[in-house]
Amino acid sequence: MGFALITGSSRGIGAAIAKMLASDGFDIAINYVSNSAAAEKVAEECHAFGVKAEIFRADVSSFEECSDMIAAACEKLGTPSVLVNNAGINRDSLLVRMSEAQFDEVLSKNLKSCFNMCRLIAPIMMKARSGRIINISSVAGIAGNAGQVNYAASKAAIIGLTKSAAKELGGRGITVNAIAPGFTSTDMTESLPDKVRDEAIASISLRRFASPEDIAGAAAFLASDRAAYITGQVLVVDGGMRL
Ligand code: NAP
Repeated sequence: MGFALITGSSRGIGAAIAKMLASDGFDIAINYVSNSAAAEKVAEECHAFGVKAEIFRADVSSFEECSDMIAAACEKLGTPSVLVNNAGINRDSLLVRMSEAQFDEVLSKNLKSCFNMCRLIAPIMMKARSGRIINISSVAGIAGNAGQVNYAASKAAIIGLTKSAAKELGGRGITVNAIAPGFTSTDMTESLPDKVRDEAIASISLRRFASPEDIAGAAAFLASDRAAYITGQVLVVDGGMRL
């Protein structure tokens, strides 16, 4: 079993995925950009499962920083068997008020990051003739969302990237899938106004936001032997919001 690298795993969904994959026996490469104390805590929690967990600071929108992180992770942990492209941000605004900088920043942090990591790790997985790549999209990338033109565009593009990479890499034993979470309780949704939150919950069949562990369960499944024949798919984990 090689190691799993999860981008943006100091908090939220990424931290939950790191811990669940650690509990499944993977050594873990934790990535963060600014919150080193949170990353340390996740590493300690992974260690409790008896696996290795190493921390790597890198801004995943930088190709060079991704390259350095992957080289350092391979040196410390061996061959990557799972990559989860989870790091992401939102800079919400209505279209007519959105600045060029808001658009560019979200595309760079959410989409180019995903290209950077796939581009750099695929050759290593191709050589090993096995690997799992899991990209975190969003229901906003499928259905769109008012106030999120930039974010929804980045998340829709991740689906196109996922399907194309799945076609290219399948012959080398690598699966590439996306997860599209609905509303999930993390720092990203912490500041939603009560009215928006209440309306959202009313539209969700299961009548609650996802926990980060609800999303991590889907990632752990896609990383497992049980998902060996699934590739190019988008697994929607939204509590029945879009039925
Ligand atoms: P979050 O709580 O805000 O955590 C974001 C994580 O990404 C943190 O670990 C952060 O690191 C890291 N990060 C941000 N920018 C980075 C960069 N440039 N380079 C490296 N790491 C970076 O977010 P979340 O809610 O867990 O979201 C995780 C993913 O799920 C995102 O892609 C998001 O779009 C997607 N998603 C979330 C929801 C939701 O409702 N929460 C719904 C659908 C999809 P630091 O701790 O160092 O800042």
